[in-house]
Amino acid sequence: MNTERSHALFTRAQELLPGGVNSPVRAFRSVGGEPFFAQRAEAAYLYDVDGNRYVDYVGSWGPMIAGHAHPQVLDAVAKTMRDGLSFGVPNALEVTMAEAITRIVPSCEMVRMVNSGTEATLSAIRLARGATGRSRIVKFEGCYHGHGDSFLVKAGSGVMTLGLPNSPGVPSALADLTLTLPYNDFEAATKLFDEVGSEIACLIIEPIVGNANCILPRDGYLQHLRALCTQHGALLIFDEVMTGFRVALGGAQQRYGITPDLSTFGKIIGGGMPVGAYGGRRDLMSQIAPAGPIYQAGTLSGNPVAMAAGLATLELIQAPGFHDALERSTHALCDGLEAAAHEAGVAFTTTRAPGMFGLYFREGPVETFEDAKASDTARFNRFFHAMLERGVYLAPSAFEAGFVSSAHGEAEIAHTVAAAREAFAVAK
Ligand code: PLP
Repeated sequence: MNTERSHALFTRAQELLPGGVNSPVRAFRSVGGEPFFAQRAEAAYLYDVDGNRYVDYVGSWGPMIAGHAHPQVLDAVAKTMRDGLSFGVPNALEVTMAEAITRIVPSCEMVRMVNSGTEATLSAIRLARGATGRSRIVKFEGCYHGHGDSFLVKAGSGVMTLGLPNSPGVPSALADLTLTLPYNDFEAATKLFDEVGSEIACLIIEPIVGNANCILPRDGYLQHLRALCTQHGALLIFDEVMTGFRVALGGAQQRYGITPDLSTFGKIIGGGMPVGAYGGRRDLMSQIAPAGPIYQAGTLSGNPVAMAAGLATLELIQAPGFHDALERSTHALCDGLEAAAHEAGVAFTTTRAPGMFGLYFREGPVETFEDAKASDTARFNRFFHAMLERGVYLAPSAFEAGFVSSAHGEAEIAHTVAAAREAFAVAK
């Protein structure tokens, strides 16, 4: 496989960008080797600057649920941008976006648009602290909520990929206010709330943990957390930056029938443009400036071009049967990979929700962060490269969920499974 141009670009990039990238996991540090540089993308495929083509299971880390460069999304962007790129005064598309989100996700009676998932989660915990008058927050080991200071405590995703439990630069006075719990452990949550429940402003969770691969909630677990928060006057925040609009049209909260107080979104609602949002109960959201005293703002928030891309994507995913088809494709892929591993005699299992999946080099089940960490990551890394050489791009980390889009059809899945049959054999 020719990688000459990517190599030349990475050499230049490393002089100028920390690690050669603008977001850590892109650097391939945990899987080894060098990243490829994208030239373009279309439907389920990424094309690199050396002309190689990959079936893409990263999908720009989640936004591309309708496939890359979908003509309806591109048309909406092109049409909108001709009227100007940013106005700094309100525009109609922001209202349409707020109407769409509040209709699709009923727990969100009001929303505020921001520019990234990180901004959404930061703002949501500020609101929770402001509204409750409490300082402590609870998060889960292995959950990633963006790179805000309060969240870089036992975070998953890239932080974990790099072997960093916490980040230097986060004052301990702030980190001490973040309490962590093991995901899917009922008793640990009960015990913590019994001890300090009255000091907890909010509990924030990835309802399906996509940043420690892909761990699903045990039956009744999210209900248990909902009940604890209600009992102790803490707010429940669902971070649906990854799961929102993916695992069901109304996200994980629809799939599991939970009503959080606040929710955070990103990725899909930007259709590939930089967007995030947070929303929730009207009485809480009304405390955000200028309606209320809790401050949060953004020069480019509600950007018309980003709204257009997001709205076009939301329209596509509301087509009848969209999520059912996504679920079928995800099962076909995961079943195919498990069968290929079985044939090759490799200990391997998958976890899945519609449009997202986890790969583990160990026997199942995988239900906790400890289970996920017990995956044979050295073997995953070999598998990753063997797949890349066969034209399949998986997330370059054993701790990141993979994503399936509506553009992943039978041909792409068959190609992936055929590649995996060889890759399992060579990656032993
Ligand atoms: N929350 C979750 C669950 C995420 O997966 C991510 C990013 O992957 C974020 C928050 C942060 O979003 P962003 O990278 O847009 O800041």
